[in-house]
Amino acid sequence: EDQGSTKPTVYMLDKLHSEATKHAQCLFNVVLPSDPELQNWQQNAEFILMKSSSLSAEEINKAQRLRAIGKQGVGIDRIDAKACQSRGIDIINTPGVNATAVAELVLALTMSVAREIASVHGRLVQDQQVGKESCSGLIMTGKTIGLVGMGNIGKAVARIFKGAFNAKIVAYDPYMPASAWGELPHVRASTVAEVIETADVLSVHVPLTPSTRDLVGYKQMLNMKPTAIIINAARGGIVNELDLARAVKEGVIWGAGLDCHEEEPPTKARYEALWSSGRIVSTPHIGAATAQTQMETAKAAVDLLYD
Ligand code: NAD
Repeated sequence: EDQGSTKPTVYMLDKLHSEATKHAQCLFNVVLPSDPELQNWQQNAEFILMKSSSLSAEEINKAQRLRAIGKQGVGIDRIDAKACQSRGIDIINTPGVNATAVAELVLALTMSVAREIASVHGRLVQDQQVGKESCSGLIMTGKTIGLVGMGNIGKAVARIFKGAFNAKIVAYDPYMPASAWGELPHVRASTVAEVIETADVLSVHVPLTPSTRDLVGYKQMLNMKPTAIIINAARGGIVNELDLARAVKEGVIWGAGLDCHEEEPPTKARYEALWSSGRIVSTPHIGAATAQTQMETAKAAVDLLYD
């Protein structure tokens, strides 16, 4: 039967996974990104769905009828939360749904850096010979992984490194209650300084805020092991990129894997100095970019907005 008239209307600012879009069309009248009516969302929308668009305070304040934003994914740093709060607009994200995909990419980046996979492959592609003696990788089994931020992704990374490498896990998260640490018997809670100093792999899983910007800079890197690998699959700027380039070049640390950059997508012009070392591997924010994850997170955004 046609319930079209009774369904709420949602404006879809970004193209979402096709199955999730179909699902949204069961629950809502959906104004698709390709629909000319989408241009009028600021006049008309009470509900919007989005993924990667940004929303400034100005745009939010123009949208006078807006009541709730369904945001596929976790990070909401591109939406002016203050403007939403003062207008009583709910931002509904999908925490946890993409944790497995991001954590698996953390493992992949770690191994790519530890065994120089991306750099060796790049040399083969350019028809260069790669002698075994030019490669000297790192073993991960039994090593220590240091985690800053023990939310959904930090916990998933801990689980994967425990399973894959029987890793020792030290973590810093000042907002986690003692009871939550109690549920993680294989994780040792520590200070941020100790996590940084003891880590063979240091991976950050915190939101980007004024207090997490440049959380790991040259000063911290000087306290790390020369064989340490840093992974940033959280947000560009949490690990200082210029400091990282310098530390890797000087052999202060071994290398790094970055899924998140200060400039996205990362361009050759800006990142060549980091990449030329062969020890810094980048991916263009693909942590959640698996078909299954895109479908699941988009569906979750639709369902949570509908609730
Ligand atoms: P989450 O909210 O479940 O966990 C974040 C954790 O960080 C929380 O436990 C919080 O207590 C902790 N935290 C906050 N400030 C801290 C600080 N100063 N020091 C230490 N801990 C602090 O979020 P999540 O799902 O685990 O995601 C973490 C981050 O990963 C997100 O904020 C997002 O920016 C990023 N992310 C990246 C991708 C990607 O594609 N690469 C995908 C999803 C999320």
